[in-house]
This record gives sequence, C-alpha cells and structure tokens, in this order.
Amino acid sequence: MICQKVRAKMPEMLLAPEGVGAEAREHLKGCAECARELRELEATMAALDAWPAPEVSPWFDGRLQARLREERAAAPAGWLERVRARMKFGERVSLRPLAAAALALTIAVGGGIYEGFTAPQPVATPTQSASPVIRDLQSLDENSQVFQELNSLDQDTGSNSGAAANNSL
Ligand SMILES: [Zn+2]
Repeated sequence: MICQKVRAKMPEMLLAPEGVGAEAREHLKGCAECARELRELEATMAALDAWPAPEVSPWFDGRLQARLREERAAAPAGWLERVRARMKFGERVSLRPLAAAALALTIAVGGGIYEGFTAPQPVATPTQSASPVIRDLQSLDENSQVFQELNSLDQDTGSNSGAAANNSL
C-alpha cells in the first residue's frame, strides 16, 4: 500500500523533491522496487530533456497571416462546398442523421421498385393465378349467374302457372 502511495508521488519527487514528505524518502531507502522505479522515471525525463523541439520556420507567422487574409478575401463557399468540407473535416457524429436519411430513402425507393416489379405479375395473369381467393370469387360469380338463371326460370314458371291459373279460371 505504501509502495502505491510513493509511486504516485514520484513525479513530484523528481520535479520538486523538497515538497515530498520524509516518509516517502525513507521508504525509498528500504524498498528496492520503488528505488528502481524512481531511477527509471528519472532516466525517462532526462531522455525527454535531451530531445530538442523542432524550430518553427521563421516564415511561419507571415505565411499563416497571408493564408488567413486569402480566406477572408475569398468568396463564401456554396452549400455543396461546405457539405464537402464537413464530410472531410467534420466529426462523424454529424453525418449520422444524413446517413440514416439516405438509408431510409434507399429502402423507400428500393421497396417502391420492388413493389413495381412484383405487383403487375398477379394482375397481368389473374385467371391463371392459383390464388384460392380469386377462385372463390370466380365460383361465387358463377353461382350468382346460376341463381339468376334459376330465378328467371322460377319467374317464368310462376308467370306461366299464373297464366295457366288465369286460363283455368
Ligand atoms: Zn516500495
């Protein structure tokens, strides 16, 4: 437990050793692991000190100012250009609604095309279709024709019988 506490204080030990308590320094004398850790951290920091940061080009500021003036003077970009720039540099989160809309449109158009391709087939060949509903409707139509014929026969016989009754009277 004390090793963890001491290791958390190690950067402080290297940068400002006088601010670290005597307890941690005492621990380092007795604990070989922590002492080794501190030496490694010290070596890493020394290596970073030896690494020189690259010098900025003396013309950098001038060029940056010129670029900024160019951008300010340029005509404002059209919406297509702005969308392109956003696709290139914007965060991906902003593209999600656009992607969802494109997907929805694809599904709608694709579904419509599918509907267009499949719907005419049963309509084009209704009599050859083996659909039981259509067969039922066709047989109902035939039945109603039969009933109409029977009705007309019945009326004929009725009127005939009526006429016969009239005749008999
Ligand atoms: Zn320790």
